[in-house]
Formats: sequence, structure tokens, C-alpha cells
Amino acid sequence: MRNHGIGSWPARRRRAAGARPALRHAGRTLTYSELEERATRLAHAFEARGVARGDRVAYLGANRPEFLEAMFAAALLGAVFTPLNTRLARAELETVAADSSPTLLVVDAARHADAACLRGAGMVEGVLTVGGAEDDFEAAVAAAGREPIDRPVEHGDPFLLLYTSGSTGRPKGVVLTHGNVIWNCVNTVVDTDLASTDTALVSAPMFHTAALNMLCLPTLLKGGCLLVEERFDPDRTLDLVEREGVTVMFGVPTMYERIARSPRWREADLSGLRLLLCGGAPVPAPLIERYMHRGLAFVQGYGMTEAAPGALLLPVADCRRKAGSAGVAAFFTDVRTADDGPGPAEVLVEGPNVTPGYWNRPEETAAALRDGWLHTGDAAEVDEEGYFRIVDRLKDMYVSGGENVYPAEVEAALAAHPAVRECAVVGVPDATWGESGAALVVPAADHRPTPDELRAFLAQRLARYKLPTTVVFADELPRSAVGKVDKPGLRSRLAAIADE
Ligand code: ATP
Ligand code: MG
Repeated sequence: MRNHGIGSWPARRRRAAGARPALRHAGRTLTYSELEERATRLAHAFEARGVARGDRVAYLGANRPEFLEAMFAAALLGAVFTPLNTRLARAELETVAADSSPTLLVVDAARHADAACLRGAGMVEGVLTVGGAEDDFEAAVAAAGREPIDRPVEHGDPFLLLYTSGSTGRPKGVVLTHGNVIWNCVNTVVDTDLASTDTALVSAPMFHTAALNMLCLPTLLKGGCLLVEERFDPDRTLDLVEREGVTVMFGVPTMYERIARSPRWREADLSGLRLLLCGGAPVPAPLIERYMHRGLAFVQGYGMTEAAPGALLLPVADCRRKAGSAGVAAFFTDVRTADDGPGPAEVLVEGPNVTPGYWNRPEETAAALRDGWLHTGDAAEVDEEGYFRIVDRLKDMYVSGGENVYPAEVEAALAAHPAVRECAVVGVPDATWGESGAALVVPAADHRPTPDELRAFLAQRLARYKLPTTVVFADELPRSAVGKVDKPGLRSRLAAIADE
């Protein structure tokens, strides 16, 4: 084959074991051979709609097989697949569309109106709609030819244009080559012993790098099966684990939090689960303990869109001994901190999975990639055995009375209080100390603590300058589609309250 990229995977798997199930969704199973046929037909349909090598094909919709079919079809043509965040409002969508200028947008019926609007404004050239009354995706697949497509695609060619979560500002488009994603898959397979017999539950959004690149693609590379769920639901997750033979899953901490609070949690039979991958945001220690009590391998990973995304992973064998650690560098990747002195320092990542740069943003690329190392903007500490503990984002650190405070440390201490279900801490301006901490606390159902009670609890665990001066209660934390707390938004909200 001349195609050395990811577009060739279904054809390669067909050759080896085409009858094996690749995707299961809504009671239907697609084998690798069927996936290959549909992706090939779709690639012909894309080409007929003007998609050529290097063009962007965007996808806006829920987790569905069509997401992966469109991805493989784009990759067969050497086009760049661009999954979009389904939570984007129309104006945000326009910004991303203007930035990525897709030739074609594959959209699920629920967002058909938005897609029509983008096409009306000339921001995308063509639209294919999946499902609903407007469905023309299936007809396009059926009408297209079946002749194999084998274009030259090399590892250095771009495969994905993936947007970051926008936790610190506007989402940035990250270019990931076939090689970047393949090496991340190799790292993941090597480090997790993912097997062709695994069934991976995909309920985290596939437009985000974690579900797509840590779970879907490594499983498909091994010839395993994906159980594709359109949305995450904690009770349903437990049902699927019991009934559908799920062996592996990925979730952000909030998803695991919600599963552990499900009424079904206690009696559910989770014995088939071999590996629970968790990452994308700080993982609270009490959460890890709840899963470890059930005898489950709860493994923390740390990464970012720019590293396709795996940088650190806790080896499964260490998940008890080193609970809470983000582990060691992925097999073919190197990770270090910016200085070896005591205390946290910036995490730097180097390896074949690291992006060549941001899309259309030469200055940000130059700032992030210096001397061959990706500067992550996160701080970590390395223990005597070389295991990393992620401390927090450097941007979220604040300085109170001349002392550095990492909100994640305060959050972890607060989360240990039995009456705290979840919390988030930010630095806000303070007339006396320059900055001080402000906490938003979601109380546990049965007990609403007072701010003084929480401060007294923290005072036994943390230095005085780390104690939040403002404590506010709420029913939930402001979170993005991928479960990250909106810290910039929270900072302005709590700064206004602290100022009162
Ligand atoms: P943006 O770059 O647009 O501000 P983002 O950094 O949240 O958004 P992602 O690439 O989705 O976008 O997330 C990567 C970031 O998530 C990391 O840089 C880190 O801050 C955080 N993160 C990932 N895994 C972990 C983890 N295990 N523990 C703590 N933080 C994590
Ligand atoms: Mg980032």
C-alpha cells in the first residue's frame, strides 16, 4: 500500500481479520470489512464534493460510527479531519469554521440548522447531514463507488486539526500528523497492554483528544471493538459494563465521580473491567480510593491536545502503590520539568507524538515549542523514583503574601472533607495579600458545611497563606463539555463576590 497513514487501517485490518467487530452502536455492529467499505465509499463521495489532499473535513455531532467513517474517509484522501466541539454556540462555531475553513462539514441532524447557516455564510463549501429528515449521508455512501483508494500518505502528513479545550483562552487548532497519532497509539498499546479482545466503552466526547486518541484509535489499531455511546450517562455506563462485556474505558474525573454516585454503583458487577483510564483534569484522591476499593485498576494519565495527547501514564502495576501519581513518561516520549530544583516546575514534553505546531498561529507555536520541547504550561513535581505529580496549571497559580499557591493543592485538601462533593479554587485580588484564594464548593447531599468549618478543616492541613478567604456554595461547578472547570469565568465571578 502507498498509504502509510491511518486511512489505511481498515483495509489492513480487513486483510488480517475483517470479520471482527470494529464498532457497536445502538444495537448494530460494524465489522472491520464493513468499516473499510463504508469509509472507501464515503471517500469517493467526499472527493465528488471537492475534497482534496490537505483540505479540511469537519465533523460536528455526537459520538456515532459516522464520526469514525468520516475520519477514515478523509484520511484515505490525505485530507485533514477536524472534529468540532458539540457544545460550541453558533458564534463560536463561526470562529472555528473561519479558522479551519473546511471544504466539507459532516453534521448530525441536531446541528443541521447551524451547518446550513455556515454554508449560507460561505464558511464551509459543502454539508452532509447524518440522520433526521435531512439525512443525505447514507444516500451519499450508497451512491458512491467501491473501488479501493490508495493514495500516497506519509507519517509527516497532517491527519487531524484538533482544537484545544479553551480552558485558558480561545481554543487553538493543533495540527497532528499521522505519525504523531500513530506514535501515541503505540505508546498507549505498549503502556496499557490493550488487546484485540478488548471492548472499549466510548462515552466521553470523541471530538476531544482523550477519547479519540487514547481510547478509540489505539483500540482500532489493535483490532479491538468500540462500543460507541452518543452521550455519557452514569447508570447506563454501569449497565453496559455488566451486559456488554466492556473491558476498558476512559473518563474525565467528573464522569467517574458521577458513576460512583449512581444508586446502581454498590450492586453493579464491575468484574469485567480491566482498565479505567482517567485524565484531562486533576484527579481527586478520594475518587481514586472509591474505585480501588472495588478492586479496579484506576489509572491516571496526563496529556494535552498538543501531545496527541499522552505524555505521562501510571503503569497499571503501580496503580495502588502510586495512587494519585500521573506516572512516568509514555514509552517513546520524554518528559522533564524545566528545572531540577525543589518545588514544582513547568512540564516539558518531547517525542514523536508532539505536534509540529498550531494551525495559523506561528507566534503561539514558537512560544510553545522551544528547543525541541513542548512547554505545557503545567507544573509538576518529580518524586525520588521519577514519578510525576501534576500540581496545576502555571496560569492558575496565584501569589498570596509573596507565596506561590497552586489551587489544585487547596482543592485536593478541601475535597477530603466529607461534606464537600466537589470544589474549585481560584486566586482573586486581595487588598492585603495581593491575591488570596476563593473557593466554590458543591456540598454533599446530606450536609452543608459552613465556611468557617471548612477553613478550620483546612488549617489542620495547609499553611495559613493557602486558606481561601472567600468560600461560596453552589449546586455545581461551571464546566466545559469535556469536564474541565472554567477557571477564567470562575475567577471573575468569585473576584466580584470577594470584593463585596
Ligand atoms: P487550552 O489549551 O485551550 O487552554 P486545555 O489545555 O484544557 O485548553 P486540553 O489539551 O484538552 O486543553 O487539555 C490539556 C490540559 O489538561 C493539560 O495541559 C493539563 O492542564 C490538563 N490535564 C490533563 N491531564 C491532567 C491530569 N491527569 N491532571 C491534571 N491536569 C491534567
Ligand atoms: Mg492547553
